[in-house]
Amino acid sequence: MRELINPATGLPCAEVPDTPVGDVAETVQKARNAFAEWSQTTPADRARLLLRLADLVESDAEELTRLEVEETGKPAAVFRDGELPFAVDNLRFFAGAARSLDGSGAGVFSAGYTSVMLRRPVGVVGSISPWNFPFIMGVWKVGPAVAAGNAVVIKPAPQTPRTTLRLAELFTRAGAPDGLVQAITGGAEVGQALVTDPGVDVVSVTGSTETGRAVMTGAAQTLKRVHLELGGKAPALVFADADLEEMARGVAMGATYNTGQDCTAATRVYVARETYGDAVEALRATLAKITVGDPWDPATDIGPLISAAHRERVHGFVSRAGGRVVCGGEPIEGPGFYYPPTLVTDVAQSSEIVQGELFGPVLVVLPFDGEDEAVRLANDTRYGLASSVWSRDVARAMRVAHRLDVGVTWVNDHLPIASEAPHGGVKGSGFGKDMSQEAVQEYSVTRHLMVKHAAPAERDSFRPA
Ligand code: NAD
Repeated sequence: MRELINPATGLPCAEVPDTPVGDVAETVQKARNAFAEWSQTTPADRARLLLRLADLVESDAEELTRLEVEETGKPAAVFRDGELPFAVDNLRFFAGAARSLDGSGAGVFSAGYTSVMLRRPVGVVGSISPWNFPFIMGVWKVGPAVAAGNAVVIKPAPQTPRTTLRLAELFTRAGAPDGLVQAITGGAEVGQALVTDPGVDVVSVTGSTETGRAVMTGAAQTLKRVHLELGGKAPALVFADADLEEMARGVAMGATYNTGQDCTAATRVYVARETYGDAVEALRATLAKITVGDPWDPATDIGPLISAAHRERVHGFVSRAGGRVVCGGEPIEGPGFYYPPTLVTDVAQSSEIVQGELFGPVLVVLPFDGEDEAVRLANDTRYGLASSVWSRDVARAMRVAHRLDVGVTWVNDHLPIASEAPHGGVKGSGFGKDMSQEAVQEYSVTRHLMVKHAAPAERDSFRPA
């Protein structure tokens, strides 16, 4: 049995058994059987299942909110009124995407032959998700895979399994065939059993860059396809002509949403030197207004960090930074794993707090001189997931955005996402896209069908036509 801890109280909130490693192969076999049936369904059948599921998720909102809030400590209103409706929108989008997934076309490329390109599902998808957005990550993994005609075995993070177990149950209630979507529980060992199982065709993981590497290594044994959504260390570039009040609002929100436990969080703010002092002050003043507290209190903006160990890790980065801590910087006393919004300045670009993903409500603010330096500093980490550019000059914002090695750049905002837009990174942030039509394509493979339509002819050799 694994005891789950409520991060807002530090007390146990439930017990969930880990799936024995020896049971993973049987689960995968069940998924293979379900795949044989599901892969023969029409796009309309798949869309119907996803639409029914979306309705069930909507009507299960209270229970899903209770489970997610107990395990993650995120504010109930943020989940119930933001993440959950977004997950429902994702599912309805995937339902539509299932019906517009087609091959790249057909043509006569060789005389006498018609080529048809078809998209087929890959098979069984092994999905592994993190603890920061357990439910929505489950939807991002399972939704597009099922839309493309695959069966899925998903393993959520050991700290936060219950909304994913519930998602699998809701699939069954929506009419999914037995074994189409199964959730297994446990940590890295159970994850590796899934990654290395020969019955799994593609592995999709959202987690840290180190986990991505371990998953890729495991998957190499059986030459599986991998889809990796990994860590981030997003820069925000603030030019002298930016609206500082808007910037402070957007960056403070971008840095602290989900208590900073977000792969796209704004973590490094680079500010044009001439406006640096004003930007630091605007950010400090905005961070001071953020309410940290009980996830069930409607006035709360951010809840606790996920665990005592994680809070120690975040605080370790801040205490070793050696710069100037402008605000925050000390764990909040009392029950639960709370940490305040924290702003640090005067540290080196090469320092751990600038380069490493600390995954907490901590911002580092540093000055730059000119566009070239801003771009160089922004690109100078191993990650490449998200970024933002703050400027009233559209041409400059576009020019700078084009030079950033990342999956997404926001201009004059930081964080918003849409079901239609692909989400995923480059460099150490991995490869592959969640959401959008691209996510559905990730779980499919192109087949070429070449049909001879020329009349049979006498051949004078056995060479291909
Ligand atoms: P983690 O890497 O510790 O764990 C992620 C998942 O992988 C968990 O389910 C875990 O049990 C499993 N796992 C760990 N080691 C494994 C192994 N060797 N083999 C198979 N499975 C293994 O990450 P976390 O702490 O749960 O989540 C935070 C991380 O996730 C951060 O790095 C964050 O940036 C990243 N993340 C990325 C995105 C994105 O879209 N790029 C989104 C959310 C979170």
